[in-house]
Amino acid sequence: MPSIVDLIRKKRDGGQLTDEEIKFFIESVTTKRMQDCQIGAMLMAIWQQGMVAAEIRTLTLEMMVSGEVMRWPDDWKGLMVDKHSTGGVGDKVSLVLAPALAACGCKVPMISGRGLAHTGGTLDKLESIPGFSVQQSADQIRTILASVGCCIVGQTEMLVPADRVLYALRDATSTVDSLPLITGSIISKKGAESLTALVLDVKFGRAALYKDLQSAKQLAQLLMEAGNSLGIRTGAVLSRMDGTIGRCVGNSLEVIESLETLKGNGPDDLMELVTTLGGMLLEMTNLAPGLSEGRKQIYEAVIGGAALSKFEAMMTSQGVANQTARTLCSTHTDYYSVLRKSDHQLELKTLTDGVVVGVDGLVLAQVLQKLGAGRSKAGEPINHSVGAELLVSPGQTVQKGVSWLRIHFEDPAPGPDQINLLQKSLTVGNNNHREAEHVCTLVAEILQPQRDIISN
Ligand code: URA
Repeated sequence: MPSIVDLIRKKRDGGQLTDEEIKFFIESVTTKRMQDCQIGAMLMAIWQQGMVAAEIRTLTLEMMVSGEVMRWPDDWKGLMVDKHSTGGVGDKVSLVLAPALAACGCKVPMISGRGLAHTGGTLDKLESIPGFSVQQSADQIRTILASVGCCIVGQTEMLVPADRVLYALRDATSTVDSLPLITGSIISKKGAESLTALVLDVKFGRAALYKDLQSAKQLAQLLMEAGNSLGIRTGAVLSRMDGTIGRCVGNSLEVIESLETLKGNGPDDLMELVTTLGGMLLEMTNLAPGLSEGRKQIYEAVIGGAALSKFEAMMTSQGVANQTARTLCSTHTDYYSVLRKSDHQLELKTLTDGVVVGVDGLVLAQVLQKLGAGRSKAGEPINHSVGAELLVSPGQTVQKGVSWLRIHFEDPAPGPDQINLLQKSLTVGNNNHREAEHVCTLVAEILQPQRDIISN
């Protein structure tokens, strides 16, 4: 086996690493035999030279086995599912999808992340519910899945330790945006969940990491290839991310919108994503004969209340008091008897008459992040009550002076520059303006998994 220095040189000079060399690299990372500066150099070499499909496959596999790989009871075989999103604004899909899938017979060990920069994190949203604990051991996850069918938790200490080291050093060496490293990081963690099927929500547009469909598709294809190579049936949805998903952005507000969706009052765009992603997973696990049947099953689980019951059970099994969970899940409830409401609200008014074309989700999320809804560095505290509600919809005719956005804030208050940015983030066209022919569907393309995957 060559030395660590030889390996770095080989990748730096454009060589293709063998399976043994990648195994050695990841083992050296996990066992701390490799110095941080050497790991950083290797990351930069990978960032510059890239990796071929075989290298990405081995990198993903070796990262996956660097820690605990979860095991499930035999009778759950073929039912284990999860989804991954590349991050959006107002993206509360997981809160509705996980219980809907459980209601349809799947087992969903959803391992989620925290918000960073302008994108929100599912764990932060759930932590706005008093008592909700996202830290669960592998044994606790198995117990919750046995009784409820779904849980939404943070990464355990034992899962993919190599990723923890690599991710911190990618951040410090400006190598986060390397497709092979992104693929290894995301898919190794899904592989360690021992999934049958995985669906990826890869977003593109103004408020997404990838601005155009083509680059999002390239990432989706790499992720699918890596997932399928681990024996996980992996499909993807390429979805538009220009405005917001649903009407609410901000942690407590998104929990409220998710609960309203689970009570049958969800916005169309959120329901479209939930039913498409869920429908694909039901098809991949053969719980539905096709995508349209899968979509229908998910829709009925949400509209009929079965998903809401699962969400209530998930909350109590993850530490929420029975009475709190019951209050949140009852009809016509006062959510703010449980969730914290911000001390102040401010409504912005439209500046012209016309037809709402859309809102710039990136600008909205960046302003809310500065007001405390999100963090700019990992580990920073956030204010769960900060957020915004969109009071108009694309395509809606509005008069000058109507309220279009309600901002929930505390300290700091939005300054004049931020108000100005928010006002500019709303586009109102004239009545026969072409832009007013808004796109009302988020799903742009569906990528189905390879047919011949022998799944876990
Ligand atoms: N999420 C991850 O877990 N890793 C990445 O590299 C990007 C997103």
